[in-house]
Amino acid sequence: MSPDDLKALVRTVPDFPAQGVQFRDITTLIAHGEGFAAAVEHLAGWAQAAGAEAVAGMEARGFIFGAAVAVRLGVGFVPIRKRGKLPVATIGIDYALEYGSDRLEMDPDAIAPGRNVVVIDDLIATGGTALAAVELLRKAGARVDHALFAIDLHDLGGANRLRAAGVAVEALMD
Ligand code: 5GP
Repeated sequence: MSPDDLKALVRTVPDFPAQGVQFRDITTLIAHGEGFAAAVEHLAGWAQAAGAEAVAGMEARGFIFGAAVAVRLGVGFVPIRKRGKLPVATIGIDYALEYGSDRLEMDPDAIAPGRNVVVIDDLIATGGTALAAVELLRKAGARVDHALFAIDLHDLGGANRLRAAGVAVEALMD
């Protein structure tokens, strides 16, 4: 399937989660067997070229693509979780949202020092979430220099913020 075919499988939901926001919904993409497989195949190709020794995905939609890519490559998957979800002592990072702040957490033992970890999420907008995940993984000792997304909301500049932090960015569609 071409990138345009994949793009056609993404549903746009107006006014979610707030008035005036056009939410790009990947539910329709992952419900399409051929489309989901093609998306995972593309992402896995990039992850393999990046030399991924593990894949990290952000809760919750990053788990869907990230875990599939990890299985495809036969490498481990590291869940980057929202506050308070993990049953062990965590390391975490607070990051700013448009209104307020949020926190990502991970198990500090999930990664061997120096491991090449590729970050995967469904979508990058401002890049705040992905940047926080990269920082957190680096704090845990990982080497992080690639991040992959199904969708890049290019106008919001997230990919450039990641590149400025030394992370190469690929996305299936703009
Ligand atoms: P950022 O931190 O880059 O501004 O926002 C990206 C994060 O918010 C990702 O974890 C992504 O799942 C979520 N997100 C923000 N806007 C959208 C959207 O329109 N569609 C989807 N699927 N996720 C979004």
